[in-house]
Amino acid sequence: MFALDDVDPKISGAIRDEIIRERNNLQLIASENHASMAVLEAQGSLFTNKYAEGYPHKRYYGGCEYVDVAEDLAIERARKLFKCEHVNVQPHAGSQANMAVYFSALKPGDRILSMELSHGGHLSHGSPVSFSGQLYDISYYGVSRETEVLDYSEVHAIAKKTNPDLVLCGYSAYPRTVDFKAFREIADEVDAVLMADIAHIAGLIAGGVHPSSIPYADYTTTTTHKTLRGPRGGMIMCKQEHAKALDKAVFPGMQGGPFMHSIAAKAVCFKEALTDEYRMYAKQIVINAKRIAQVLMEEGFKLVSDGTDNHLMLVDLRETGLTGKEAEAALGEAGITLNKNSIPFDEAKPWITSGIRIGTPSVTTRGMGEEEMSEIGFLISRVLKNTGDDKIKHEVRGGVADLCSRFPLYNELDTQQ
Ligand SMILES: *Cc1c(COP(=O)(O)O)cnc(C)c1O
Repeated sequence: MFALDDVDPKISGAIRDEIIRERNNLQLIASENHASMAVLEAQGSLFTNKYAEGYPHKRYYGGCEYVDVAEDLAIERARKLFKCEHVNVQPHAGSQANMAVYFSALKPGDRILSMELSHGGHLSHGSPVSFSGQLYDISYYGVSRETEVLDYSEVHAIAKKTNPDLVLCGYSAYPRTVDFKAFREIADEVDAVLMADIAHIAGLIAGGVHPSSIPYADYTTTTTHKTLRGPRGGMIMCKQEHAKALDKAVFPGMQGGPFMHSIAAKAVCFKEALTDEYRMYAKQIVINAKRIAQVLMEEGFKLVSDGTDNHLMLVDLRETGLTGKEAEAALGEAGITLNKNSIPFDEAKPWITSGIRIGTPSVTTRGMGEEEMSEIGFLISRVLKNTGDDKIKHEVRGGVADLCSRFPLYNELDTQQ
């Protein structure tokens, strides 16, 4: 970062500190990952200079011949990776992808049926603080109180009662497999459009370790920066019949110039995700999550739905006397980064919460396997059982440092200014 060190040492210093932070802490935030150097290079490229309103070979600006190469490749590879009919790779992020689907499939005031935020839904699925809750008429389903998993007959009953125009599935904090076929049947019963938001599990679907939404959903939205391990960004896949309306909803409906540097990086991410190595990675994410879940349950912790099928789990802290906020802070001091999270039927406020969310995409990217997951599970357990004990936090920090040094990250990057 020669130019940056020179021009703006404060920013280059912050970036170097972030490299050190990612290297020396265990990242267990379920929505994060460590993108490859190739992805970072593409996203940091001078494609950021280029205006390219429109779509490949139909642009409103000259000089688009090279950004067209990037967007064509992103589209071709995404279609191959997800076996979808049509894809739009331009949404700036996941929330924008969702907005574009609503704009193309609904009119303001139309009815959406989605999962309640505290049960694992996302802000952009109709929360009153989001545009989605302000523009549309939202009703919610949740998980069953007894099993803490989706009860499809209950979702069906709610759909019958609320008669939605769009049924939304796919979540931010749901540790179990989603049955997209069941959702298709529910949507058909009430004559609604089916939208799947696979932001969290896209990498698992791409890697073949979670069933795909593509055969069932009219629209599938995703981010590219979570399990998929690409640049920060969004993407929408749909049936050919919706392609034209969708593309118009993205541009000019919602966005101006696409981020061509991000689109180039998405293309790189999809190329990586089409490899056997990536498929092994996706498989390992799930194996790793199951191992942490097993250790935590053996250590006496209650997990929402008593386990996981995917890359994440939720620890229900209600019996420990800790809040999610306290647990997040204590683990953070010990070098373990994760987030507090509401659990189903949580009575604590969203900025306090009664749970934490743990995800394995980042530690699996570092090359860690089941043995290391056992270590991590025990480290988490020690901190949570001794939150007031600084000596134990210090020891856990040592364990974290040892794990991080055995699985180095971003060796190519220099942190000396
Ligand atoms: C992360 C996430 C999004 C939104 O992503 P942003 O890129 O932060 O806007 C949308 N839907 C779900 C289910 C998510 O988990």
